[in-house]
Amino acid sequence: MCQSYKIACDCNQNMAEIFFGKMVLNETAIEAVYCPQCSRSLDTDRDDRVWDNGWVLEMNMDAVRLYAGSMGISAQALTAARVFDEGYATWVGITPDDTRRRNQERDEIQKLAKTDILAYYEAMKAWGLNREKKFSDEGWRKMRVHR
Ligand SMILES: [Zn+2]
Repeated sequence: MCQSYKIACDCNQNMAEIFFGKMVLNETAIEAVYCPQCSRSLDTDRDDRVWDNGWVLEMNMDAVRLYAGSMGISAQALTAARVFDEGYATWVGITPDDTRRRNQERDEIQKLAKTDILAYYEAMKAWGLNREKKFSDEGWRKMRVHR
């Protein structure tokens, strides 16, 4: 996925992977990322920050505004939350570190394939369904948008 952009959060303990949908924005639109550990003292009431389960994506609104026309959103109506929810700058997966976690989980299940192929198919199926339910229960923004 060539449009994805990896960025460390402010405290440097976690990584987020950002996806720029519809080929409009690029990494100049991203100012900072905060994980649940480093977002605690942040001001929540700002147009340039979108909150998602403790994670915060802060955008450079001057850079974002340059693309308002391409996004079909008026410059006055532009907020980080809107840009995120419409998919112009969002997580690659459902959560900021979804890709890495998904690969780890899948590797675990794939070990089953060597010993018990039926159990493996069942586990893969259950895993997909459980992931979706878990994300939905946790209330990630992307799950809310899809409802
Ligand atoms: Zn952090």
